[in-house]
Amino acid sequence: MSRVMLITGASRGIGAATARLAAAEGYALCLNYHHRQDAAQQLLDELQRSGARAIAVAADVADEAQVAALFAAIDAEFGRLDVLVNNAGMLERQMRLEDMDAARLARVLAVNVTGSFLCAREAVRRMSTLHGGNGGAIVNVSSIAAKLGAPNEYIDYAAAKGAIDSMTLGLAKEVAAEGIRVNAVRPGVIRTEIHASGGEPGRVERVKASVPMGRGGEAEEVAQAILWLASAKASYTSGALLDVSGGR
Ligand code: NAP
Repeated sequence: MSRVMLITGASRGIGAATARLAAAEGYALCLNYHHRQDAAQQLLDELQRSGARAIAVAADVADEAQVAALFAAIDAEFGRLDVLVNNAGMLERQMRLEDMDAARLARVLAVNVTGSFLCAREAVRRMSTLHGGNGGAIVNVSSIAAKLGAPNEYIDYAAAKGAIDSMTLGLAKEVAAEGIRVNAVRPGVIRTEIHASGGEPGRVERVKASVPMGRGGEAEEVAQAILWLASAKASYTSGALLDVSGGR
C-alpha cells in the first residue's frame, strides 16, 4: 500500500505545492484545510484526476476535538499514517510588539504552536513503535523568522516558529529510538497569500533585496525540501532545521 501523508493547511500555498509533489511520488494523501473548502476541493479533484488516492478534511488544528476527528478520518480511510507535514500556519497584521494584545497572541500561538503540537501528538500515537506503529516522519514547517525575529512585522509569529524549532529538537530526540524522524524546514520569503493576511500583499517584492539570492522563493522549492525530509533518502536525518531561504 502507498505511504500515507497528512498535510495540514494543504488548500493553498506551500501545503498545496507539497500535496502536488507528494501525489506525483505516489503518496496517498489527507489534505487538511480550515476555511477554504473551495480551494481544497479543487486540489482534491486535480489530484484524483491524476490518479492519486486522497481525501480532504476540514479541521482547525488549534481545536483539540477537531484534530481528533481529523486523525480519526485518516484511520477510517487509510488505516495508517507514515508522514505528518505540520504546515498549517498563520500570521496577523504587521505591527510592533507594543501594540499587540493578548487575544492576538493567543490566536497566533494557538494555530502555530498548539496546532503543531496536537497534530504531532496524534501522529506519534500512531507511528511510534512503542504504541505498535511502524515508525514514520514528521516535518514541521517553521520559518526563517524564528532566526531573524520579524521586527516591526510580527515578533509573535517569529516567536511561535521559535517554539516549533524547539519542539522539533526535543521531539526528534524523544522518538528517535521509536522509528520516527522529526525535522523542520525554515522557509524564507515565499510567494504565497500569507503576506496579504499580514496586510502587505507585495511584501516579497519589498524584502527580496535583503535575500542573498535576490528573489523570493516559490512554494514548490519549499515542498521539495519537505518531500526529501519525509523520504527514506533522509533516513539518518532527524532534529534538523533546514533553511530554505535563498541564503538568508
Ligand atoms: P497560506 O498560503 O496563507 O496558506 C495557509 C494554509 O494554512 C491554508 O491552507 C490554510 O487553510 C491553513 N490554515 C490556516 N490556519 C489554519 C488552521 N487553524 N487550521 C488548519 N489549517 C489552517 O500560507 P503559506 O505561505 O503556504 O504557509 C504555509 C506554512 O509555511 C505556514 O506554517 C507558514 O507560517 C510557513 N511559512 C511561510 C512563509 C512564506 O513566506 N510564505 C515563510 C516562512 C514560513 P484555508 O485555506 O482553509 O484557510
